[in-house]
Amino acid sequence: MSEYRWLSPEEYDRRYPSQGDGTRCVHAGLPAPVPGAPFLPGPVFAAPYHLDPRHGPATAPNGYGRPDNPTRRLLEAAIGELEGGDCRVFASGQAAITGLLLAVLRAGDTVVLPADGYFPVRAFATDTLAGNDVRVLFAPTAGPYPSFEGVRLVLVETPANPGLDVVDLPALAEQVHAAGALLAVDNTTATPLGQRPLDLGADLVVASGTKAMTGHSDLLLGYVATRSAELLERVVAWRTATGAVPGAFDAWLAHRSLATLDLRLGRQTANAEALAHLLAGRADVSGLRWPGRPEDPAYPVASRQLRRMPGVLSFDLGNAERVARFLDAARLVAAATSFGGLHTTADRRAQWGDDTAPGFVRLSCGVEDTADLVADVAAALDAAA
Ligand SMILES: *Cc1c(COP(=O)(O)O)cnc(C)c1O
Repeated sequence: MSEYRWLSPEEYDRRYPSQGDGTRCVHAGLPAPVPGAPFLPGPVFAAPYHLDPRHGPATAPNGYGRPDNPTRRLLEAAIGELEGGDCRVFASGQAAITGLLLAVLRAGDTVVLPADGYFPVRAFATDTLAGNDVRVLFAPTAGPYPSFEGVRLVLVETPANPGLDVVDLPALAEQVHAAGALLAVDNTTATPLGQRPLDLGADLVVASGTKAMTGHSDLLLGYVATRSAELLERVVAWRTATGAVPGAFDAWLAHRSLATLDLRLGRQTANAEALAHLLAGRADVSGLRWPGRPEDPAYPVASRQLRRMPGVLSFDLGNAERVARFLDAARLVAAATSFGGLHTTADRRAQWGDDTAPGFVRLSCGVEDTADLVADVAAALDAAA
């Protein structure tokens, strides 16, 4: 039961026949137009809702805020449209990923996780999952992968954060399913405009919406999407039991931000391409990774699988002091973690206890003008030499 009227698939096709990425982002999850109502209804702030005194919660869509919130449902409809599945949002990417792992895995199960993926997920696996008698195997994103016999769940991150390796999802899905296991894909770096894992054979998508998807560096969000009613039910039960839901205002901000995803990614990718070109030509930069570069080891798979390249690249400046000089000198590159925001940022990952080299930098391109950004990064590298 919804308090908003939805466009039927036929109405939607009639209204938005082109279905390009920009169109899909602008209209994702919006209710049917009502004269006098806003395009995106404002956030609904509620813990309890009024109940029917006689029939209780059975007659209304909302009873209590932990399971029910109409602002959250609109956002879930939007992300679900973009991912091509049913979506549920969480308070953060970590809440979504740990929720998925704990909802699916039981004592005695085996899970395969990325050896080069998001560090806190690996730490969670070795602490909490291993403590729950789940066997944890790590595999590098680019392979080789272990045998999946006896494995319950394979979680991959592609492109992986921060190393930006990729894995061939249709080929992997075939191997995972042949062994009777489930495949989950962390789609944080690509976003659903960059890659639709459910179309490529994954059973589950999980992601942080904190990064490029919402892109304004002002909220935390996570989500799980799937086409399996059974898996969705388990995820929803977990979320309701643990209460790991985003607040109404964050959900509304996220939905508002989604409308510009196509525009933001377009500029971020263009900036990453220009910076990759600059960095590849500099003798003082090593280990450049960007999956959109034909020379990159990830390129053969990335160019087949990704609908667009991420705005993130990584490289090595040799040591922590040179990274500090580079960040001091740059006027358009803020020292900050996270990625995918409007502002260009760079993060020396080793300062967080990550297992990367001391001079390893993940640089996330914002939406500044390309020429300004390239000039600034070039000048900052000169100053750091
Ligand atoms: C940031 C990130 C997460 C965690 O998301 P939060 O929203 O920070 O909790 C998970 N996976 C990847 C790949 C990430 O980059």
